[in-house]
Amino acid sequence: MYQIKTIGVLTSGGDAPGMNAAVRAVTRAAIVNGMRVKAIYRGYKGLIDGEVEEFTTQDVSGIIQRGGTILKSARCEEFKTEEGRKKAYDTMQREQIDALIVIGGDGTFTGARLLAQEYNVTVIGVPATIDNDLWGTDSTIGYDTALNTIMDCVDKLRDTGTSHERVFVVEVMGRDAGFLTLNAAIASGAEAAMIPERKTVEEQIEEAIGQGRRKHKNSAILLVQEHSIEGGAQAVANIIEKSHPEYGTRVTILGHLQRGGTPTASDRILASRLGCHAVLALLDEQRSIMIGMQNGNIAYVPLTQSIKQKKDIGTDRWNALHMLSI
Ligand code: ADP
Repeated sequence: MYQIKTIGVLTSGGDAPGMNAAVRAVTRAAIVNGMRVKAIYRGYKGLIDGEVEEFTTQDVSGIIQRGGTILKSARCEEFKTEEGRKKAYDTMQREQIDALIVIGGDGTFTGARLLAQEYNVTVIGVPATIDNDLWGTDSTIGYDTALNTIMDCVDKLRDTGTSHERVFVVEVMGRDAGFLTLNAAIASGAEAAMIPERKTVEEQIEEAIGQGRRKHKNSAILLVQEHSIEGGAQAVANIIEKSHPEYGTRVTILGHLQRGGTPTASDRILASRLGCHAVLALLDEQRSIMIGMQNGNIAYVPLTQSIKQKKDIGTDRWNALHMLSI
């Protein structure tokens, strides 16, 4: 049996609250199981440049409650090239890293899979992105925290919205997926959620505000997924101002507020469990998999599937929002 003595760990792509809890879990679980841990800074950029430091259990003390990532994150175009990945592999050889645990999203896993294919290295993915857009896991690290942040912001906006009888159009992140927007809309009692998975935005606006459905209400909150329409929330506001000039429409773009903050208990627990299991999966001789959470249980998901399959948002949340927003 090929024994893994040293693992490398990195965080990559968009930062997500709970990444630190995952780094802590990976580090401690590996050391407890007799392995050495090399922390790689700035994602794939650090792997290419050799920004590597051996971690002890103390190096991950006091970070479980911190947002962002102590390992830093970076977008690295060079890693998308064969030459870049060759340099990354050279660093692994030099540092005697036998396996890599990558904490990130879809792009991070795509890069890891290529590295695994080209150099036959062992990689394990830990899903961390506020977008929750990875197939094979019910939730991703950072998603619950971002959802709570958005909900808090919308609660505050509603106070002004109802006082001044306005429509607030709130732009939410999410890349190609509507999970954050739709669930935040349900949690905050918003009137509508505009997401890429559903109908045209014009139809959704008409449903939410027009057709006399909302006659008894003179304020409304619409959540708009950033990529559900070209121009995002501002474009939606422009449409509403034209079709319903009776409302005073205001736009709020939550932006990077959604990424930061102390991770919720749920994200800390998820990150801790997934991080520990990433190490256990290595002991179990697994490779090229993502560690997911399905119905409360740990699941091993082939990296290829987690990247290629599209996570279905389903219809029940959509129907619930629709019923509750009358
Ligand atoms: P996320 O992991 O959150 O989806 P990105 O899409 O920005 O974030 O990806 C993070 C990093 O993963 C990129 O900066 C790049 O280094 C690497 N990556 C993304 N896509 C690819 C790809 N097609 N091939 C190789 N590496 C990739």
